Amino acid sequence: MKYKIEIERGGCIACGSCYSVDPSHFEPDDEGKSALIGGETDASGSSGVFDDDEIENARNAEDSCPVSIITVTEL
Ligand code: SF4
Repeated sequence: MKYKIEIERGGCIACGSCYSVDPSHFEPDDEGKSALIGGETDASGSSGVFDDDEIENARNAEDSCPVSIITVTEL
């Protein structure tokens, strides 16, 4: 399945939930804010397109974010 993950990094509070729940897609930067592994990342956002069977992990990370800044979209 092909899907896109986006993080609005400007609102990230570096809580660690997403990369604890799904370390295959998400990782912390130097400040503990989330970034997508293999994605395109700058100060305001991170996005990446993936094509595998791991979307459920990404959805769990999306659900775990306390400030709802992760979006997972099927393509
Ligand atoms: S769960 Fe949300 S607030 Fe927490 S580190 Fe991930 S993106 Fe940031």
